[in-house]
Amino acid sequence: MYRSHNCGELRIEDVNKEVTLAGWVQRVKDRGVLTWVVIRDRYGITQLLFDEERSPKELLEQSKTLGREFVVQVKGTVIERESKTKNMETGDIEILVSELRVLNEAQTPPFTIEDETDGGEELRMQYRYLDIRRNPVKNNLMFRHSVAMEVRKYLSEKEFIEVETPYLIKSTPEGARDFVVPSRMNEGQFYALPQSPQTFKQLLMVGGMDKYFQIVKCFRDEDLRADRQPEFTQIDCEMAFVDQEDILNVFEGLTRHLLKEVKGVEIDAFPRITFDEAMKRYGNDKPDIRFGMEFGELNAVAQHKDFNVFNSAELVVGIAVPGGASYTRKEIDKLIDWVKRPQVGALGMVYVKCNEDGSYKSSVDKFYDQEDLAKWVEVTGAKAGDLICVLSGETNKVRAQLSALRMELAERLGLRNPEEFAPLWVVDFPLLEWDEDTERYHAMHHPFTSPKPEQIPLLATDPGNVKANAYDLVLNGNEIGGGSIRIHDKKIQAMMFDYLGFTPEEAKAQFGFLMDAFQYGAPPHGGIAFGFDRLVAILGGQETIRDFIAFPKNNSGRDVMIDAPANIDEMQLKELNIELLVSESAES
Ligand code: ASP
Repeated sequence: MYRSHNCGELRIEDVNKEVTLAGWVQRVKDRGVLTWVVIRDRYGITQLLFDEERSPKELLEQSKTLGREFVVQVKGTVIERESKTKNMETGDIEILVSELRVLNEAQTPPFTIEDETDGGEELRMQYRYLDIRRNPVKNNLMFRHSVAMEVRKYLSEKEFIEVETPYLIKSTPEGARDFVVPSRMNEGQFYALPQSPQTFKQLLMVGGMDKYFQIVKCFRDEDLRADRQPEFTQIDCEMAFVDQEDILNVFEGLTRHLLKEVKGVEIDAFPRITFDEAMKRYGNDKPDIRFGMEFGELNAVAQHKDFNVFNSAELVVGIAVPGGASYTRKEIDKLIDWVKRPQVGALGMVYVKCNEDGSYKSSVDKFYDQEDLAKWVEVTGAKAGDLICVLSGETNKVRAQLSALRMELAERLGLRNPEEFAPLWVVDFPLLEWDEDTERYHAMHHPFTSPKPEQIPLLATDPGNVKANAYDLVLNGNEIGGGSIRIHDKKIQAMMFDYLGFTPEEAKAQFGFLMDAFQYGAPPHGGIAFGFDRLVAILGGQETIRDFIAFPKNNSGRDVMIDAPANIDEMQLKELNIELLVSESAES
């Protein structure tokens, strides 16, 4: 038996017990006649005492040879500490050691294994196993586990069953590139790793599984934006014989359950807004509604004067920044520079200070009098003391710019409290999205999403305006889940592929299996998938997902610990018949 107790559990009630503990040396405090050693395992830390008067001499000497991160096993007696500490849960006791065994020595770690470490991000990733010994990372992984357990519990109680779907498949269209895997047994052919189990979960519905879920890895070969991982985890779900309302209810229930169980937060019915409304009010399809600063569209009240910047704009829109009237000229200039940064891309910003005395001072006083500005105040809901920031230009661009400004200011004003949770549903997404590069419509969600049935005729005349039975669950400005009611009619699915520019041959080659399945009694169905890493991070009060993943990749998609991706040897390439690569590597 390596241990009788773990390093986190002994208390004052255990005094006089003979115990065996095992763990890693956190620190050694050598006081000559005494040595204190703190050892650690997953469950906590416990202090060991080696004492000239009470321990054999060799043992005291031995204790002084211990280094950080040595793996040790000790036997001893639990004693009450003279100076107790509230800083550790075992702070009332220590172990008077009678036997010490070094199970393994350790090199000095490249960074300190403390809550506040001196290790930089890249170094921590390279030695991730050491990083995992630190509380912040360890606790995140344990938190992730508890969220996963609650997901499984809730969905199992609702009669969902977890079914595994394959990883070696054919392309699934979720809008990214596939990772491909060469097949040795099928010369020249490749599997793709799933971007999601989308088609399989639909086939499970055709198979009569009724309610499916899976906590599952998905793979997307995208240019990595900040805080994206090429492999990530979804809570993937699908239900048969449901309409949108059923799905929203079940998964609102799941989200509410998680908030309650893991955060102790109770939330009423989630608000729902349409995609169009979200864009109009927040410039964004994943609005953070923990704070106001809603958009006020100013075209009607700002486009009748000689200010050509506004007159020629498709949209003039503003937000009221609480307390912003007190910003100095310099601070406002900085804000203007901020919106003009290439990442935001605004050409400029007009502002109005709403003075406490009820007067207004704007950057366009030449064109607008107090009466005009009073209308802007009304539209944006500004109060005395606020600053109205106004951007103008092409609708979609301006909305994105003002949305970026809104989020930035909220951050600066401390309005994005990570312990406050404001979920909402965004519904009625457009079915299609125009792609400038290919000059074609793409499925906004994916090609299996059902248009709103009554809008199907509109596909022929005004495809860009057709809405889908598609929805996103948004939490604190992050899309944490998205899904749709699916097409289950072969003819409509074929029509969709046609709109999306697939020839019937291409559609058959890629998705023939699904179309075939639809001929054998496909039930109406729909589902959703949650981004599990992000959900866990947000529930954990953080916005970066990396520290909730045991072995994450860096920003260039590399695992710096195992050094992947890596070259493979020529033999392996030959075996896989990757001839081009074989000849290239032979040359080099
Ligand atoms: N497969 C979709 C996705 O990964 C989710 C869904 O439609 O259920 O976003």
